[in-house]
Formats: sequence, structure tokens, C-alpha cells
Amino acid sequence: MSIRRGTEEPSLRVAVVGAGPAGFFTADALLRAPDVACSIDVFDRLPTPYGLVREGVAPDHASIKKVTTKFDRIAAEPNVRYFGNVTFGLDINRAELLRHYHQVVYATGAQSDRRLGIPGEELDGSHPATEFVAWYNGHPDFADRSFDLSHERAIVVGNGNVAVDVARILVTDPDVLAVTDIADHALDALRGSQVQEVVMLGRRGPAQGKFTNVELKELGRLSGVHVVVDEADLELDPASAAEAERSRVATRNLEILRELAGRGPAGSGRSLVLRFLASPVEILGNDGRVRALRVERNRLVETAGGYMRSEGSGEFSTLDAGLVLRSVGYRGVPLPEVPFDSDRHLIPNEAGRVRDGPGGPVVPGEFVAGWIKRGPSGVIGTNKPDAVETVAAMLDEVTGGDAREPASPDPSAIVALLESRGVRYVTFDDWRKLDEFETMRGDEQGRPRVKIVQVERMLEIMGR
Ligand code: NAP
Repeated sequence: MSIRRGTEEPSLRVAVVGAGPAGFFTADALLRAPDVACSIDVFDRLPTPYGLVREGVAPDHASIKKVTTKFDRIAAEPNVRYFGNVTFGLDINRAELLRHYHQVVYATGAQSDRRLGIPGEELDGSHPATEFVAWYNGHPDFADRSFDLSHERAIVVGNGNVAVDVARILVTDPDVLAVTDIADHALDALRGSQVQEVVMLGRRGPAQGKFTNVELKELGRLSGVHVVVDEADLELDPASAAEAERSRVATRNLEILRELAGRGPAGSGRSLVLRFLASPVEILGNDGRVRALRVERNRLVETAGGYMRSEGSGEFSTLDAGLVLRSVGYRGVPLPEVPFDSDRHLIPNEAGRVRDGPGGPVVPGEFVAGWIKRGPSGVIGTNKPDAVETVAAMLDEVTGGDAREPASPDPSAIVALLESRGVRYVTFDDWRKLDEFETMRGDEQGRPRVKIVQVERMLEIMGR
């Protein structure tokens, strides 16, 4: 197969499923590949592109969202097309993509959440933090959710950056959020919030927090918010002290926590309490609603591999609360007909090449990138080297002469297929119309944008 740059028509046809950071960085790495000319179609189930940059990054973290400028440049490349509002497995399936493309890359992220596995998890008022995030970011699937903010205490379980995000949003002055692109419904609800104290629970110690320095430090800068850290929690056992010494992030986190612990007593305003060595064991309810969380104090035990594991001490306490946000990690979900590792919740792969089951043979023509490849870890930029690795595997397949020949590679065939099914797909130019509409409404209010949160309304504005 000839896939040389400089030939009249690009000859390697690639479908990327998922228009988040992993999908865009994959497209970028493909476009940069020397000697290979390809045309790339990026599919997303939502009309809007950017994945977690739009639906996950906190509204008060506008600078992180600037990466969309790069994604826009990639989407504007003549050999890149965007097909939004196309659901894989519903509007188009695996066999069809393989019929139309030499290679398919799954970059669908991790669309569900991990569970705590404790009684009471299903009570009203107990939610995955990922849903709270999607709600305040205006994800259409979560726009009609409601979160009970009428109780004075809310609890966030977990010590990662998502826990920090949701805790920060709960305690931040709504006037500060009002100049961001937070969804209007969330801003309204947060304006009426009665929450005065947010407790963030880490099952392990401060040396094992998964949050990063900038995010932790930011908590100490929130106006009108008192961050409470118990100095006794910062006295480390020898193994944790040694672990922290080996990690610059942990060392700096501990410095920040010591500074926070040394601050004076709370004035008026909201409190954010960081508690460590505490595991939720049961969510208690009244009439089906959350009323409290039962917590067990933990101690740390060093495993043979040097990992510091938490272990219950048998000492329990109860914290009243009306809202429990479980922020213990995202979880990948299977894609119809695509191999899946249901223990690790990802698509089994070898450096980006899909395997037919864990440990199984490599499947020609199918690749993965991002969280569905490696699990839900790392920041947006982590997806760049991850995509470069996947694209290297894709190019190896091509240069090794192993690329499949799809039955119907004509770029117009996919359009004809979607149209024959009446799929209301949107192009990047359509998205630009919505982008312009949202930013124009944002300009009127001194905000980056005002998000449209219903798919039908989005399509209407896009003229589809
Ligand atoms: P994460 O970093 O993996 O943190 C998950 C947290 O949940 C950990 O503290 C973990 O504790 C805890 N946990 C897991 N199971 C638990 C259980 N059964 N009981 C109590 N606690 C439990 O995941 P994340 O916060 O969802 O973030 C996902 C990725 O997105 C991360 O890489 C994160 O850095 C990134 N992110 C970045 C930003 C940013 O850059 N601003 C913002 C949001 C997210 P253990 O450590 O004990 O397992």
C-alpha cells in the first residue's frame, strides 16, 4: 500500500472514536508523521468536541481549557473531519468502521465511576463525584440532575484532583464562579447552597494524597474559606516519611499542608476540612436520603512491595451530612463488540494495539489511546506522549506491510451511510456556530461562554 506524503490523495484512512484530548492528540501525532499521508475522521457521541476539557475540567480552571486552541487547529487541517452527535455502537458500529477505514482508534475515555462497595451507596444524596462534575460543567446527560445542598455539611470521599475540584466548587463563593463557564443550572443551585462545611476524606495519609501541588495550594487561596488540617495528621510514620522523601510531589504537598495546619482559627465563612486515615464504611439514611457517614479510622501498613495500604483500626465515628460525593476514580466502560478487560476496565492492548482479550493476540487495524488504553490517570498533557506511542504502533503496522485494506475506503461512503440512517451528525463548522453563540452570550455577561446544555438546542443553533 502506498501511503507516502506528496501523493495527490491521502491514502491512509483513520477513524478516531472520541473527540477528547486523547483523540485530538492522536490526530495530531498522525498528521505529524513523516512519510505518511492520512485522512482522519473524528467521531464523538456529543455534538460538542473536546471531551473532558469541556465536560471535566473545572470551570474556574480556564487556563487548562486553552488547549482547545490547539485542538481547533488540528480540526481545521484539510484532512481532518469531525462527526459529532454520532454514537459508536448505535449510529455506527465496529464492523462498519473497519469496512471504511484502514485503522480505527478508540479514545473514549472512562465514562463511569468506581464504587466504594459500602452499604448506603445508593441512597439519595450519595453520588459519584464524576456526575457532580458533569453536572456543573453542563454535560447534556447530567444537566437535569439535582444535588441536595440544603444540609450544612457535605462529604467528599477521596484524595485525588477530582475530589479537590468538587470540594473547591462546593466552598467557592458563587460570585467567583459566576464569571466562569459553569453551567447556569449549577450556578443557580450553588447560589442557594446551605453547605458551610465540606469534609474531604483520605483513606490513607497526607503523604499518599493523589492530589498535585498546584491544586492543593489553590485550596489555601480561596477567599473566605478556612482550610482545616489537623497537625497531628501530619506526623508521619517512618515508612510514610521515607515514601514522601522519594517523591517531590508528596514532599511539597506536605509543606503545603503544614502551612495550612499552622493558620489561625476560622473566621466566618465556609470551612474545608481535610481528614486523613479515614474510610467510609456505611452511608446512613433516613427515608432513603443520606443523613450521615460512618467512618473508620485507619492505620497504614507497608506491603512487601513497599506500598502503604490502609487498614481499619476498629475505631468508628459518625459525621452528619446531606451530600456524599464519592470521588474514588473514573472507570472505563466497554464499547459494543470491542474487546474489553473487565478486571481493569479498559481495552486490552499492547502499547496501543488492541488485543483480542487480556493477553490475547493483537487485532489488526484497531488501536486505543487515553484513559480507555491506560486507565484514568494523569493530566490532559499525559495524553500527548500516550497518543505518540499509539501512533508509533499504527505506523509500524503500515510500514510493516500489515495494514488491512478496508472494503470501502472512499471518504464519501461514511457520509452516505450516516445520511442513509438519518443520523444528525454535525461538522466542525457546525460546532463553530454553537461556539460563537455560546461565547457571544458569554461576552454579554462577562464570562468565557454560556453553555448550552441540551443536545436538541445545540442542534437547533447549529442548524442541523
Ligand atoms: P485519582 O487521582 O486516582 O484519586 C482517587 C482517590 O480515591 C485516591 O485518593 C484513592 O485513594 C481514593 N480511593 C480509591 N478507592 C477508595 C476507597 N474505596 N475508599 C476511599 N478512597 C478511595 O482519581 P481522580 O481524582 O478521579 O482523578 C483522575 C485523574 O484525573 C488523575 O490523574 C487526576 O490527577 C486527573 N485530574 C487532574 C486535574 C487537574 O490537573 N487539575 C483535575 C481533575 C483530575 P488511594 O490513593 O488510597 O487509592
